[in-house]
Amino acid sequence: MEKILARLNDRQRAAVEQVSSPLLVLAGAGSGKTSVITSKIAYLVREKKMAARHICAVTFTNKAAKEMRERVNQLLSREEAKGLIVSTFHSLGLEIIRKEARHLDYKSGFSLFDTEDAKALIRDLMHKDAQVDAEIIQQVQHAISQWKNDLIEPEEAAELHQDEPSYRLAAEVYAAYNRHLKAYNAVDFDDLIRLPVLLFQQQPERLEHWQHRLHYLLVDEYQDTNASQYRLVKQLTHLRQTFTVVGDDDQSIYAWRGARPENLAQLSDDFPHLKIIKLEQNYRSTGRILKAANQLIAHNPHLHEKSLWSQLGFGDPIRVIQCANEEAEAERIAAEIMTRKLKQQAQWKDFAVLYRGNFQSRLLEIKLQAFQIPYKISGGTSFFARNEIKDIMAYLRLLINPADDNAFLRIINLPRREIGPSILEKLANYAKGRGVSLFAACHELGLESQLKPQQLERLRRFTQWIDGIMQRCEQEDPLAAIGEMIRDMDYEAWLYQNASSPKIAERRYANVWILIESLQTTLQRMQEDDPSLGIKEAIARLVLRDLLEQQQEEEEVDKVQLLTLHASKGLEFPQVFLMGMEEDLLPHRNSIETGQIEEERRLAYVGLTRAQQQLTLTLAKQRKTYGEMLNCTPSRFLDELPQEDLQWEGLKNTAEESLEAQQARKKDRIAMLQAMLGNS
Ligand code: ATP
Ligand code: MG
Repeated sequence: MEKILARLNDRQRAAVEQVSSPLLVLAGAGSGKTSVITSKIAYLVREKKMAARHICAVTFTNKAAKEMRERVNQLLSREEAKGLIVSTFHSLGLEIIRKEARHLDYKSGFSLFDTEDAKALIRDLMHKDAQVDAEIIQQVQHAISQWKNDLIEPEEAAELHQDEPSYRLAAEVYAAYNRHLKAYNAVDFDDLIRLPVLLFQQQPERLEHWQHRLHYLLVDEYQDTNASQYRLVKQLTHLRQTFTVVGDDDQSIYAWRGARPENLAQLSDDFPHLKIIKLEQNYRSTGRILKAANQLIAHNPHLHEKSLWSQLGFGDPIRVIQCANEEAEAERIAAEIMTRKLKQQAQWKDFAVLYRGNFQSRLLEIKLQAFQIPYKISGGTSFFARNEIKDIMAYLRLLINPADDNAFLRIINLPRREIGPSILEKLANYAKGRGVSLFAACHELGLESQLKPQQLERLRRFTQWIDGIMQRCEQEDPLAAIGEMIRDMDYEAWLYQNASSPKIAERRYANVWILIESLQTTLQRMQEDDPSLGIKEAIARLVLRDLLEQQQEEEEVDKVQLLTLHASKGLEFPQVFLMGMEEDLLPHRNSIETGQIEEERRLAYVGLTRAQQQLTLTLAKQRKTYGEMLNCTPSRFLDELPQEDLQWEGLKNTAEESLEAQQARKKDRIAMLQAMLGNS
């Protein structure tokens, strides 16, 4: 145990040893808040002889929970850690619901609705009366989610908004929505917290049961708790008042999801014996990175002043690279990672690329693939996991393998071809009986006996069309044939009909063409090596990449990490790239329009403070936005950083870029090219 405590500074140690009163650790990024939690778990088990199953630590993201679990495993043996709960708020809620299903009047084996499922239900409920556009559905969904997070039930919502017709309507949908969820034996994401809280309010003996189960509660990233999560914490700890929560008000980035940073202040009111400990030494980043982060966040008003310092040396300048456009930006980042990996003998996993919006990852993925750099996406949907990509991949799979029944089933009625489940069932039975694939069955003669002529005609039309494309792929330019296939079926129109906004449809359609481009590059590269290879091999390679990506989802391997800023919370990396440092991206346009710059600044602060040794900020001079090339303005946050610590490169000061810098860059490129040639 001494070893665990010896590593901590005095204040951290005090925080670990403070067990009898409730404790709040309030401190800036990288000051060891999460370390206090993990050390304290070990301390409770070893020193205080508390059984691990009475201890529960919660945080916000799966990734953070996983990281916490790993850190605990380094401190405690498996035996000691038995029964310990380290999870996200939502998985804790899920666990409670699972165990209490009966008391909540749910049947076991209930299902969890994700955002898309929930939206579909809301859409159904609203369409009963009239056609309602997607934006309104989105707003209603948002309102329902906020109400649930604020623990406001439908009747109360209706009362609160008596004079606002649109909210009143939403409150009605809310009531029906809850009834339907119940009928489907389903819960949604927000219910995972709401239902336990309601249960504990209504059935005190259930609360007592859990209070006896959980003796000590630890909460990381406390600044991001919303009203319902805070209530749950209060309920669970009310009896013993034994808990430790750690947080940093400068890293509160979930206001849009109902987070209440004022929960930090609320704690001292609710728990008069609360002790507060502040930490000030940062163990993560170099002095320069810290100085930049401190200076940026100083532009926000502060409740609690914090002064972070670091002993890790001042470190390298922060590089700011301005590129001609978004594609050049993505390419530059990939090239930088490649060079640095080689020059600094780094590992891939030392690098992280952070961005504001998920869509920013797609060009980056393509460029990383071009350099054959392994990467992993978290906190968002990987390119290949996107629906539009899966759809088109299914078409491609069918083209190279007509026996791929899964691919056939995915696309047979997408876009709609009036080929419904009953036709498919008959087709499947027939195919099974004959031992052939679904696609092959469509060509067979005996099928007439099973289906009406009209139904048969629809299937035949589809297979003939695919046959035609296959033929063209062999005889003509395959990429042109595939492009025509996408236009021919009017996939674009289908996307527009099914997306919640035209902007989203447009982006999805653009992704499709990025996939086709990537197919083209893959084909070209393969043919450079071996001219006898063709489109089939190129598609096969793409499919393989897709499969591998799915399998390796959870494996911890040496890969560059791509993350949204939101998903990066609590994590750290030796080298961080923060891309898209432009107005409208960071700060995000919606936040500028609604005056929520402070939250965006906190988000940027989270990004900067992920870096341990090297921080690189990139931005584009022009960016394609909804089909148009627009000039970009550098982010205001760049102006708020200490200019003397920034080293600009790229278009902004081309004239001023020193000869030295130019030569260094040239040398880098040459080294990289040589290394790549050596690699292959
Ligand atoms: P964030 O606000 O980003 O969540 P945090 O306050 O939770 O940061 P940690 O992640 O716990 O900070 O710690 C940051 C880094 O400093 C980690 O690599 C951790 O191992 C290290 N660290 C923490 N305390 C000490 C210490 N006393 N001595 C040496 N290293 C430490
Ligand atoms: Mg932390």
